[in-house]
Amino acid sequence: MDERTKISIMTLGNNLIKKFNENLKINVNLSNYSWFNLGGNAEYFYKAKDKNQLIEFLYEAKRKKLKTTILGAGSNILFRDKGVKGVVIKLGNDFSYSNLFEKNIVVAGAATLDRKVANFAKENSLENLEFLSCIPGSIGGAVIMNSGCYEHDISKVLLSVQAIDKNNLSEIEIKKEDIKFSYRGTNLPEDLIIISAKFQGSIGKKEEIEKKQSDFIKKKKLSQPSQIKTCGSTFKNVSKKIKAWKLIKHSGCENYKEGDAIISEKHCNFFVNNGNAKASDIEKLIKKVKKKVHEKTGVNLELEIKIIGD
Ligand SMILES: Cc1cc2nc3c(=O)[nH]c(=O)nc-3n(C[C@H](O)[C@H](O)[C@H](O)COP(=O)(O)OP(=O)(O)OC[C@H]3O[C@@H](n4cnc5c(N)ncnc54)[C@H](O)[C@@H]3O)c2cc1C
Repeated sequence: MDERTKISIMTLGNNLIKKFNENLKINVNLSNYSWFNLGGNAEYFYKAKDKNQLIEFLYEAKRKKLKTTILGAGSNILFRDKGVKGVVIKLGNDFSYSNLFEKNIVVAGAATLDRKVANFAKENSLENLEFLSCIPGSIGGAVIMNSGCYEHDISKVLLSVQAIDKNNLSEIEIKKEDIKFSYRGTNLPEDLIIISAKFQGSIGKKEEIEKKQSDFIKKKKLSQPSQIKTCGSTFKNVSKKIKAWKLIKHSGCENYKEGDAIISEKHCNFFVNNGNAKASDIEKLIKKVKKKVHEKTGVNLELEIKIIGD
């Protein structure tokens, strides 16, 4: 056992490690939990079994003054090479479900993959959730990011979120009206762990929903690369008209690279781990492109991906 692991066990205490058993691990490599497939270790990694256990764990983490970071499907996160201090929390299978709350309202667990919610809505002849079939994350991440595509986004279909407040460990429901949405973001506080969300669909014809969904998927396949190690769009679009990829292309950055961090040939806002890139390579590439775009166009590109770690 290395020195770091010994210290981690001492900090947490054997009792706690026994209490959460296989759900709590020490020194876990995060590369398997990010679509970039890179990054250092989480000091602690906790996979929440269910809501009660999550609250119990958050209580202990608070008592031990451990920093907590919540992870979804990792399709928008770059973990730094030195890893993440404290606990990285992932929601387990209990948080993965789609149900009908009412005949045109879907309630989905925060760990449910977006495409599963789209499929569930389709099976129940509910329109307006088709776009979720194109987003490779989970519902928790989609709400936080206000994810969307093709003129649709979460803000247009969300009714409310159910969450655990990390400060007082209470379960709360926040209505859509009380959330401020922006392009790829919300004002939801970082102290919340979303556990589920309700979405408004409207009754439609199943064949039409099916067609819309498959048209979106086809369109996506044509415009974006697949089967690569990426977290999608690196930078936010500036506006509907001013797309980040156009600025990158116009600034002549398309062929920039740093080590094994490259830019996708198919979509130049997609940065890619081409094999053995480090998080630092991706970050260097981000800085280089940002600087060049600013010099050429005066635009200060803002990150869409989240960079987490030390
Ligand atoms: C190939 C590809 C294509 C993509 N296309 C699109 C697209 O068309 N449109 C689009 O909007 N995005 C797109 N993305 C980006 C990404 O899929 C979305 O941002 C997605 O919603 C992130 O969800 P996630 O579960 O993976 O979140 P993560 O990447 O795991 O986390 C993202 C953020 O959400 C927070 N978070 C996650 N779960 C919770 C929770 N339960 N409670 C509180 N906070 C939470 C995390 O802490 C983090 O800050 C694409 C990504 C890839 C790889």
